[in-house]
Amino acid sequence: MNIVIFGPPGAGKGTQADNIAKDYNLFKVSTGDLLRDEIKKDTKIGNEIKLPLKQGSLVPDLLINKLLEKVVSNKIHSNRLIFDGYPRNLNQVKNLDILVKKYDQKVSCVLSLKVNLNIIIKRILGRKVCSKCDQTFNDYFNPATSYNHECNSKFLQKRSDDNEDTVKSRFTTYEKETLPILNYYNDQKILHQIDGMREISHIYAQIRGIIDSVET
Ligand SMILES: [Zn+2]
Repeated sequence: MNIVIFGPPGAGKGTQADNIAKDYNLFKVSTGDLLRDEIKKDTKIGNEIKLPLKQGSLVPDLLINKLLEKVVSNKIHSNRLIFDGYPRNLNQVKNLDILVKKYDQKVSCVLSLKVNLNIIIKRILGRKVCSKCDQTFNDYFNPATSYNHECNSKFLQKRSDDNEDTVKSRFTTYEKETLPILNYYNDQKILHQIDGMREISHIYAQIRGIIDSVET
């Protein structure tokens, strides 16, 4: 089964995608990873994308499609893919459809994690990591106390340079870009909305229930 997973930054999408990939023996497709991999291997595509990536500009869809075709056409992962962070626009949705069809596959399940903006802000801005023992805490959800953390609190460092405005604007962009995609998959009757505000393990249990009930 091929799966697509959506969620705003800070929704824990990456963690869930990793869990799904591991338990269902799927290959996780993240275009960011694919791009970095090409650069590392110094391939022809790698050389073409080096500059746009460095300049922070978008990598052309055409190149992304080439990379995706390599993965989708690979028989080892046939019908065993989970797309994380792709597709990002309707063009990419259509390209993905064409690609999977070309290799006699389909997208059978689309998961969308719904999280409210205030929670995302707290999750991202409250994150702290201890530079001594590497434990992660959150000022709002899981603060470091003398019970759960032995090191001096001076070792606790904020994890990101984000401020509320950047988190808000990324969230708004995400919602705006993703809505038409979710509508598209909803029309295909393969969209599953998931409450992403519960505990990670609860969310994952719900995801498993969905995946197990999907017919391929
Ligand atoms: Zn520590």
